[in-house]
Amino acid sequence: MSTEETRTRIVWDYAPAPESPDHVRLRDSYGLFIGGEFRDPLDGRRIHTINPATEEPIAEVAFAGEADLRAAIEAARVAQPRWAALSGLERGKYLFRVARLIQERARELAIVESMDGGKPVRESRDVDIPLAAAHFFHYAGWADKLSYGVGGRDVAPLGVAAQIVPWNFPLLMAAWKLAPALACGNAAVLKPAETTPLTALLLAEIFQEAELPPGVVGIVPGDGATGAALVRQPDIDKVAFTGSTVVGKDIQAALAGRGIPLTLELGGKSANVVFEDAALDQAVEGIVNGIFFNQGHVCCAGSRLLIQESVADAVTGKLWARMGRLRVGDPLDKNTDVGAINSRDQLERIEQLVSAGEEEGAMRRTVACELPARGYWFAPTLFTEVAPAHRIAVEEIFGPVVSVMTFRTQAEAIAKANASPYGLAAGIWTDKGAKAFEVASALQAGVVWQNTYNQFDPSAAFGGYKESGFGREGGPAGLRPYLRIS
Ligand code: NAD
Repeated sequence: MSTEETRTRIVWDYAPAPESPDHVRLRDSYGLFIGGEFRDPLDGRRIHTINPATEEPIAEVAFAGEADLRAAIEAARVAQPRWAALSGLERGKYLFRVARLIQERARELAIVESMDGGKPVRESRDVDIPLAAAHFFHYAGWADKLSYGVGGRDVAPLGVAAQIVPWNFPLLMAAWKLAPALACGNAAVLKPAETTPLTALLLAEIFQEAELPPGVVGIVPGDGATGAALVRQPDIDKVAFTGSTVVGKDIQAALAGRGIPLTLELGGKSANVVFEDAALDQAVEGIVNGIFFNQGHVCCAGSRLLIQESVADAVTGKLWARMGRLRVGDPLDKNTDVGAINSRDQLERIEQLVSAGEEEGAMRRTVACELPARGYWFAPTLFTEVAPAHRIAVEEIFGPVVSVMTFRTQAEAIAKANASPYGLAAGIWTDKGAKAFEVASALQAGVVWQNTYNQFDPSAAFGGYKESGFGREGGPAGLRPYLRIS
């Protein structure tokens, strides 16, 4: 039988510090960005995008139909040879301009990201938007040095890239996709996720302001059906997808035999491993950042916490105390640590897996806090007494829920960390450098952090092993998926 424990509210508090959306200039309705302009959909439809913290509509957005996708690809096809014929230096200038315009509109973009997706504005402001600009700066620098990025070989662009991004880091994922594609001389048609299309549409305005040649980028919001139709279009030369493993497999099947290069950045169930010699207070901060950053809607979230048995009680005690000081609520409040769950569907997925954890016998502890009456919320949750076969230890929850397991030896830690169909990221907490290197080399994970977690930099490659996908984004490795190399 599982037991549930709750913790009473924190005893001290901050005054509210809401960020004002007053200066945000959103249109009532957005068309599709095709051929450098916003167009009415040909056979698409219009939907309202919802603020998940209030359930209020924010703006109307066009979703692309088949004819719209064909038009976007056609515009990209026309634009691509001229874009590729520009010198790398010239393409780089456009990307620098885009990066600077993102910086100029950073506050507005951060607020819109938080309104549309539910993430705390502190994170949009300090992580999502600066990193999106940094990606454009980084690849602007590569545009005239492509050959150096691939060991001095000859390079050519692939053509038109179809790109699909998820809702957890909407602008940042768009930047991860678009910046390297454009630097390499490709055109791109990008589909944002259905629940978070707004910052990609503001990015389209930025492309207009930067006078990016029309057609080089198309932005076609839509749902899964739009994404499925996009990857099945005949006239594309590359597909790059970030999202769930199940959809990644569907895309792989759709591309089978067509000779179209594919990059897949998929899900994860990443292990965060705490050894007994770690600085435990520092580790607890890293655990909190690893799983509660962006409500746990992070592909590389440290959702499997492996603690050495000798310090397990100490670490879970400190973690539980720290969780009680997390502020859950209004994403636009600058003091908020955990914002709204992105959508009702995602909230239901989290609730379902948390119920499975209780039914299978793990012990659940959820922070007791006042949650707003409207919107989608899930309070930070810790599971102990988790067995490796429990669903909460195996499946991606993609929410603010951490499952704790223990180990005795280094070998057992490695075996448990690798016992997952995924292999995206891992964290290692230890004072011993040699141990960190030894363990990192044995982990099947695309990224391994030592004594930190969720650190991103445009110059560092990111990507997965096993069911977490293939191909790398970021740094010179991120150029390869967008080049024909000879
Ligand atoms: P999802 O796969 O349902 O959706 C992702 C995107 O794909 C959305 O734009 C969606 O509209 C589109 N899509 C849905 N069905 C499609 C289909 N059949 N064909 C083509 N496109 C389709 O995933 P989600 O729930 O929106 O996002 C969460 C998932 O994304 C998690 O599994 C997470 O781990 C993963 N993710 C991975 C990374 C990474 O870099 N590895 C980064 C962020 C998120």
